[in-house]
Amino acid sequence: MEVIEAKNFIEDIINEELSEGKVTEVHTRFPPEPNGYLHIGHAKSLCLNFGTAKKYGGKCNLFFDDTNPSKEKTEFVDAIKADIEWLGFKWFEMHYASDFFEDIYNLAVKLIKEGKAYVCDLTADQIRESRGTLTQPGVESPFRNRSVEENLALFEGMKEGKFADGEKVLRAKIDMASPNMNMRDPVIYRVLKATHHRTGDKWCIYPMYDFAHPLCDSMQGVTHSLCTLEFEDHRPLYNWVVENTGVEHKPRQIEFARLNIANTVMSKRYLKKLVEDGTVSGWDDPRMPTLTGLRARGIPAEALKNFCEAVGVAKANSEIENGYLEHFVRDYLNTNAERAMAVIDPIKVVIENYEGDGEYIDFDTKPQQENSPKRKIAFSKEIYISAEDFSDNPPPKFFRLKPEGYVRLKNAYIIKCERVEYADNGAIKQLICSYLPESRSGNDTSGIKVKGTIQWVDGKESEDVTVKKYDYLLNDPQYPGQDFSERFNQNSLTVVSGKAEKYLCEVEEGTSFQLLRIGYYKKGSENGKTVLHEITSLKDTYKPAK
Ligand code: ATP
Ligand code: MG
Repeated sequence: MEVIEAKNFIEDIINEELSEGKVTEVHTRFPPEPNGYLHIGHAKSLCLNFGTAKKYGGKCNLFFDDTNPSKEKTEFVDAIKADIEWLGFKWFEMHYASDFFEDIYNLAVKLIKEGKAYVCDLTADQIRESRGTLTQPGVESPFRNRSVEENLALFEGMKEGKFADGEKVLRAKIDMASPNMNMRDPVIYRVLKATHHRTGDKWCIYPMYDFAHPLCDSMQGVTHSLCTLEFEDHRPLYNWVVENTGVEHKPRQIEFARLNIANTVMSKRYLKKLVEDGTVSGWDDPRMPTLTGLRARGIPAEALKNFCEAVGVAKANSEIENGYLEHFVRDYLNTNAERAMAVIDPIKVVIENYEGDGEYIDFDTKPQQENSPKRKIAFSKEIYISAEDFSDNPPPKFFRLKPEGYVRLKNAYIIKCERVEYADNGAIKQLICSYLPESRSGNDTSGIKVKGTIQWVDGKESEDVTVKKYDYLLNDPQYPGQDFSERFNQNSLTVVSGKAEKYLCEVEEGTSFQLLRIGYYKKGSENGKTVLHEITSLKDTYKPAK
């Protein structure tokens, strides 16, 4: 196989193995535990596993690590598959650890027969206490030297449900004095009388992650088992399992740094709490860092992948600034999203010198392209503008609309504010304006120069919409290490009213737009009414580190 230029240390390793003939293909897997929804950190693992396989013309499996039945559900399996499909990755094969339970059990029996595993009656606490410390060796279990026959009988008994949860475990017989704590006779099987989401009540013993994972990798033909750094200390155990069970295919574990993003929680426990106590509307709340949340938010899958690519793969943990993803989102939407118009906190504008029923004007829907496509937009005597685009008490250099002032309506005419009409409570009721018929965009002969251009919507061909703006879920910590639960940003959702072009209300849900002068938004709906969800603001606050 051809050696390709490496872009990270994992590819360096692969290239070396390929050139030495140690491997002839690249086969990875993405190994989620179906106990929750995928988050942005998983996107990095997905991009790495699928990306590496693709680069080398290899394969990537989807592998559900379902060895912990008390927390796993089919709901999560389905959600995980949907998220991966959204990102556009296609797995080669899909497997569950539970598909291999029989084989894993047989390999445990094999270890027992070879005197490499034993049934231990110590409690979880006793096992922990006898493990020793980093400076002190552990103490051998009094059950360590049970005979092979006794171990086989007891392990069989565990499988048959003769023992209660925690009463007995199977441990690998390795080395209680190993400098690596993971090698001090780790537990490899436990009794757990829980119903498994796939195997039901067939099993009441389950293999531990450290035992099951290398075996499942091997049985699937995985060559490179990529995992996060906290498993580095588990690698000797991974290799021990591969060597001592004698499996034919020998995978290799390589660790990389997790993705950490400032002010972003990826702890499933905290995210679950937010969902369960109703702080957010669900796993797919647009503020959530879950993939389903990002999708609901309107983050394009392409932008997320570009972000993961740019973050890269490293051996040391670091934290990414939280504006960095949005940088890629803007970049993508700026090129791909259509422009449209909406106004916030609408103010009615009556153009008193406008005659007739109205007209249609050309609106550039993709001015970022050389030959922008155009859409016809209605313009008539009554239009709406955003409240913030008018001031009856303007500060200096206010170039939007003010009494006696002029402003250009995007793609349409220049208008002048003649009078302001107030309601009894002092609020602005409407603006009475005039327009310059000869100032139409593209054919302006008015000779009047205006400094401001604002967006607007037509009174007849627009609809009321709800506009939802989002901010980060978490505030900055007030002191280092402040708990997430104290940092929830109460202002992370703002709901305002607006009016949008009729087109926006009729277009397919999920379509993203750049709303002129407002931001990037995704079209949604609630109770039959259009809702515009903020994806990200127009301005890039991200400054690359110097
Ligand atoms: P938990 O928080 O429950 O331990 P997890 O985040 O490890 O879960 P898994 O479902 O076990 O979730 O993860 C699947 C894969 O995604 C693993 O290979 C894991 O290492 C990787 N992964 C999880 N979080 C991140 C992250 N923040 N950055 C990169 N990879 C991650
Ligand atoms: Mg995990």
